[in-house]
Amino acid sequence: MTASTDSNLQELGRQRPEWEPWLAVIEEVLNETADAQWDALVPAGIESRESKIPLLAGATITLEPDSLRRWTERLLRTASRSGTEKMAALKPALQAPSDILALFKASLCQDSDRLNEIAAAVGADPEAFQAVMTLAPVPFLHACNRRWTHAIAPSWAEGYCPVCGAWPAFAEVRGIERNRYFRCGRCASGWQLYCLICPYCGMTDHNELVTMVPEQGGTSRVIEACKRCLGYVKSFTTLQGSPAAKVMLDDLASVDLDVAALDHGYRRPPAPGYSLDVTLVEKPAEKSSFWRG
Ligand SMILES: [Zn+2]
Ligand SMILES: [Zn+2]
Repeated sequence: MTASTDSNLQELGRQRPEWEPWLAVIEEVLNETADAQWDALVPAGIESRESKIPLLAGATITLEPDSLRRWTERLLRTASRSGTEKMAALKPALQAPSDILALFKASLCQDSDRLNEIAAAVGADPEAFQAVMTLAPVPFLHACNRRWTHAIAPSWAEGYCPVCGAWPAFAEVRGIERNRYFRCGRCASGWQLYCLICPYCGMTDHNELVTMVPEQGGTSRVIEACKRCLGYVKSFTTLQGSPAAKVMLDDLASVDLDVAALDHGYRRPPAPGYSLDVTLVEKPAEKSSFWRG
């Protein structure tokens, strides 16, 4: 994690001391995300696509189960230690399930039904389990984004992430040109949009798109919502795009906008923008540990 990300995290902790437990989990993820060793796991031979299919879709990923288990258990341990009742209910899951690749695949593909099944099988609170497991593939996804930034087709015009298929966490309106980008909260990729558009249903009619400005904080942070599908996106005016490591923190720091959007009857779709189908292949353990234990 860079010094600036670290100070962003500390600043967030000062502003919202009640978030300290969850920020400890985020810190663990950001530290791991900075580890370049994940780059070696990014599937090779992925090329720019002109289609609507994210780069990760259909990929074969080779992972070492023991290392993956250590990382997953470290994440669950950090969350369960965090002191909240919900997260303490993760304790039964501290021994990650035997089929660690199936768990990783469900997290990677945002397969919430499968994650709920696994949570039930290990006896963990499903909501807490899902919240933590959503973060497990983040270091891998950031590595994919680092490697594939140049493979994102400039013509990509979908509402979902061109790398991992997730819906955007927020939009950035950058610089004096006011270019619009969506940012992915999982892999941190950014993709430019050429008009005001609802990412979920593709609506571009200005009469159907509303902008809500919060009472405090000016017009640099707004909610853009769609009257047709009732989806919303947070939108931030900024000089330049946030660094990859800060995307997750920007999303978290603006949770007041999510609350306001929900209060007005808007929501984010529960299912991912694109259902990834990936094949996970087991790599035999090597003597030297790949991830920290
Ligand atoms: Zn993504
Ligand atoms: Zn819409």
